[in-house]
Amino acid sequence: MKTLLSVFAVATMMSTISFAADSKFKEGSCCDKAEKAGKKCEHACCVEADKAGKVCEKCNKK
Ligand SMILES: [Zn+2]
Ligand SMILES: [Zn+2]
Repeated sequence: MKTLLSVFAVATMMSTISFAADSKFKEGSCCDKAEKAGKKCEHACCVEADKAGKVCEKCNKK
């Protein structure tokens, strides 16, 4: 039973980590909201950053 619990704990941790790494945008930013809505952010600055393969730093400050 203990083994099963630890496997479950590891699996939960792994999924949490992969979920956190999944979104490259700052939580609550325009890009984050757009992504969650299944779209791309339409802000000019964000579109430019996306073209360059980056994340807009203006809107996604760390
Ligand atoms: Zn944006
Ligand atoms: Zn932006």
